[in-house]
Amino acid sequence: MKFGQWLQNHPHFLEQTYWLTHRVFTWLDPLIARLGYERMDRWLRGPEEWTKRIVFDCRMCGQCILHSTGMTCSMSCPKNLRNGPCGGVRANGHCEVFPDKPCVWVQAYNRSLEMPRYGDEILLIEPPVNRQLEGSSAWINMLTGQDKVVPKAWDQIEVIPIAEK
Ligand code: SF4
Repeated sequence: MKFGQWLQNHPHFLEQTYWLTHRVFTWLDPLIARLGYERMDRWLRGPEEWTKRIVFDCRMCGQCILHSTGMTCSMSCPKNLRNGPCGGVRANGHCEVFPDKPCVWVQAYNRSLEMPRYGDEILLIEPPVNRQLEGSSAWINMLTGQDKVVPKAWDQIEVIPIAEK
């Protein structure tokens, strides 16, 4: 088993690591702001891609939602789905496109059950991915709030909770 897969099968350890990294970045924010977000983005995106690719098969979408998806990268789904599986998941839990591979979303759900800190976030509805952020550092986008900026049309959609339908 690859090292990245082995680590992903320990989602509680990964969520704790995420929590700690989040705190460190938030604490360093004033310094990062002084150095300049653009400059820090240039410095950070390489190491961020390198580490996250090894562990998560990261595609550098620039708006990381790993903690909301069982520490499993939803962009590694061949359909890039951000809100759960498509209708093609096989009875054995494998992917419709790559039958020999487990569905990313089945893995995400199962792993989220082992995450006491962030596991419930799997129920959140994620906005569409903003392709303009592709290739940039998700950590810097988190600090600047760019990762919360969503495509315009999404602002105008009213999300109705299931119970009110
Ligand atoms: S959600 Fe985006 S930034 Fe996070 S691991 Fe996946 S592709 Fe990379």
